[in-house]
Parts: sequence; structure tokens; C-alpha cells
Amino acid sequence: MTDWNGKPYHSLDFHLKETFGKKVYKLALDGGMTCPNRDGTLGTGGCIFCSEGGSGDFAASRRPSVREQIEDAKEKLAKKLGDRDVSYIAYFQSYTNTYAPLFYLEELFSSALDCPEVAALSIATRPDCLPEDVLGLLTRLNRRKPVWVELGLQTIHPETARFIRRGYPLETFSDAFRRLKAAGIPVIVHVILGLPGETREMMLETVKFLGDLGIDGIKLQLLHVLSGTDLGELYLREPFPVMALEEYLDLVIDCIALLPPEVVIHRITGDGPKRLLIAPLWSANKRLVLNSLTRRLKERGVYQGCARVKER
Ligand code: SF4
Repeated sequence: MTDWNGKPYHSLDFHLKETFGKKVYKLALDGGMTCPNRDGTLGTGGCIFCSEGGSGDFAASRRPSVREQIEDAKEKLAKKLGDRDVSYIAYFQSYTNTYAPLFYLEELFSSALDCPEVAALSIATRPDCLPEDVLGLLTRLNRRKPVWVELGLQTIHPETARFIRRGYPLETFSDAFRRLKAAGIPVIVHVILGLPGETREMMLETVKFLGDLGIDGIKLQLLHVLSGTDLGELYLREPFPVMALEEYLDLVIDCIALLPPEVVIHRITGDGPKRLLIAPLWSANKRLVLNSLTRRLKERGVYQGCARVKER
């Protein structure tokens, strides 16, 4: 069994300490972009679960300068951290952060990388918004400091993708993934567990597919039904089953067992805004979820990749 500093899975915390040799914090920034699934290019309603904030409800409010946002976020963190030596990841989280002209992206990302304390860039985007010139820019920036790309796939199943109005087929994801990897850029994939109509087997198929593909990192996100979203309206009109805590824990443990040991697990629960949460309400208690997960992993003797060891 591989041990990631006492944890039975390859956590982001462990990965950051190994890579940068110190504590690294993410600063959620707003690049001022929109999304083709919202601005009318592909659709106007967005993905069915997406809130007004473009799935980045914790990002700093819109400001003209990324440097100001970084300084502001650092100041807030400094109150907690004192004068500890830390670094930051500039995280462009809300909306589609490669959906802008090249000159705009170059200015935005370069000014974030120019900050001496920024150790890396993490860019959340859609796989259908990565044209060659943007990929070229990311490749150049990746030579200065590490650049990661986060792709919101959510599921490999076409019927669910249609239901959530994702707006692109799995082939588009696979193609973007292949081009990013060929350019040497690590890819982190977002998956939502608990989407309506998906069985436990379907969710595990998505995770297995990604593990086999060779992704660098994964965010396992429990489905949050949020007010102000179309999914929230649907739930209030015709409530559909949402996951119970125990069910979610067992599913996440099976996902961990399926993932190859080298895949970094960036998230194993949700991070939605409590003020908007309609269901499942237990997910608001993140500490309870994480503590219960650690306990249950130990009880079941599961570690990352153990299902693959058994398969061999
Ligand atoms: S791609 Fe992202 S920002 Fe765009 S609608 Fe979907 S979740 Fe929201």
C-alpha cells in the first residue's frame, strides 16, 4: 500500500507540499469572462446545476485588475496565517476562463504569474474552448511556472450530459485532453456524483474511464442542488432522490479504490455556498463528511488504487 503522509489517498495537500516544499493556498480569482453555454453561443441557461456565479461562488467579486484581487485575497489570508512563508495558486474558477481573445488571456494570466508569491496557475474551462492559439499560450506560460487546466466533464454518459445541458460530446473532452497532455499541461477533471438518472455503476464507470485515460487530478463533487439554478427549480417542483451521507461515503471510497495511485484527488466532497444549498443539507457540514470518510476508509482498509491491484 502507498501511504500519502498517513492518508490512504493522494490528496492535493500532499501533492502541493511534495511539489513546492511548503504550504500553498489557492486564491480564487475572477478573470471577468462568461461562458458560451450562457451567453447564447451554445445556450443561455447554462448547465442545469450552474448558479449565477458560474460555478465559482467563492471567487472574488469582479474587479478590473487581477493584481488587486491577488493582493486583496492575500491580505485576507494573512490575517489567518501571520507571517508564515506560503505560496499561492492563482485559480481562475468562475465561468469559462479561456473564453476570451488571446491578448486578453495573455495579459490576465501573465500578470498573475508575475506575482512572485504565485507558484502556479490553475485555469478552469470547457474542453470546447481550447483553440490552438490558446493552447500555445498555456504551453508558453507553463514553461515559466506550472499551469494546470481543469475541465468540467461531470459524466461520460451522453444521456446525462444532455440532461445537464453540458453542450459538448465526450469526444470533445477526449480530444482536448489529448492535446493538453501532448503540450505537457496537467489536466484535472471535475466529476459530479449523484446526478439525476445516474446509477452508482454509471458514476464508477466515469471514474474508471478517467483513471484509465491518465488524468493528473480529479475533483469528486457531490451534486449540490442550489437555489437560483434550473436544477433547484426542478427539485422544488418534482423532488428527485439525492444522496444520503452513508451512500455518498461508500461511493467515494469505491472511486478512491478505482483511481490509480498517481492521480491527485483535489476534492472529495462539495464546496457549494451554504446560503444557496437546497439539498442534500448534510453536505453543508464538510468537517463531518471528511471525518466520516477518513474513519470509513480505515474501517474498510481501502487505499487509492487497491481495486486495480486486486484486478491484476
Ligand atoms: S460550463 Fe461551467 S460556467 Fe458554463 S454553464 Fe456550465 S458550469 Fe456554468
